[in-house]
Amino acid sequence: MNGSNDFPVLGFDIGGTKIAICLADRHGRILGSQRIDGGTGEDYPVALRQMTETGDALLKQAGVAATDLRAVGISAPGPMDMASGILQKSPNMHWEGAPIRDDLQKYYQVEACLENDANAGMLAEWFFGVARGCSDAIYLTMSTGIGGGVIVNRTLLQGTTGVGAEMGHVVLDINGPLCGCGQRGCFEAFCGGRSISQRMQEILAEEPDHPIMRMAEVDGDFKKLNYQVLRVAVREGIPLAREMWEEVCLRTAQALGGFMMIFNPQMIIMGTLAHYSGDMFMTPVRKHLAKFSWPQLHEPCQLKTPALGHQIGELAAVSPAFYKFYRKGGWEPEPANP
Ligand SMILES: [Zn+2]
Repeated sequence: MNGSNDFPVLGFDIGGTKIAICLADRHGRILGSQRIDGGTGEDYPVALRQMTETGDALLKQAGVAATDLRAVGISAPGPMDMASGILQKSPNMHWEGAPIRDDLQKYYQVEACLENDANAGMLAEWFFGVARGCSDAIYLTMSTGIGGGVIVNRTLLQGTTGVGAEMGHVVLDINGPLCGCGQRGCFEAFCGGRSISQRMQEILAEEPDHPIMRMAEVDGDFKKLNYQVLRVAVREGIPLAREMWEEVCLRTAQALGGFMMIFNPQMIIMGTLAHYSGDMFMTPVRKHLAKFSWPQLHEPCQLKTPALGHQIGELAAVSPAFYKFYRKGGWEPEPANP
């Protein structure tokens, strides 16, 4: 079969500021993709029409007849009701109860499969990226917030209501910083990008002359304080930055150690923060792991960054559909490179 007819799947990656739509084949090759700006900031009916128009255009461009389409995948920020396929309103989701799964299923007349973005990212890295061939792996988005996805014995961990695995909201310290979810001391409240920015803003609010505030990247503007700035400040050797970074690394190791003790994974993949920080993050995290997990569990576990780069959103969008076929026995990922 040629590429365009080889198990085509349409994917919709729903985000707060943009929606990415892509058409991919069974090998995870992207046959076409396009973005719609505005994301869930648009009214749902308007966005839905733009999404299906864009999906139709991608099918047409790739020469795929709508009747040849095998499935639709959807990756969206949680929370969502998995039984009904309805997205729930949240800080990252402005639509009010959008029945996106059934609407896309009805429109395309194929099965539509929905997952939260972290689970979908886990599936994408497992099928097409760095975790190919793993039986047990964990993916942590490590972005503005911390989403988590877990593969246990070649199965995506979804839990009884499909809300699993909210690894960013495991409490590490009941007296820790307040989290956006309402709990105190969540992993995300210590190590999520949004929380790191807020903490820097709080600490530096009374110190406009602090060396961090005078950095070129900040130029006295509190709104520019974020973890990229923190990283630069650490490299420049600013003591406050080093202290804050040390806590981020220690708390990450605490969370990872706990996950290793439970899941004994071959691999933990960490997104944005780890991807951009490299060794200055991974080395101290590895060093601290011995405080939180046994050698039998952390020594064989590889810490990795995602392999899919900018394509992760697109491939995360199609992956819930491939997973459905994988479970039913109608599709297999390609084996890992030896
Ligand atoms: Zn939380």
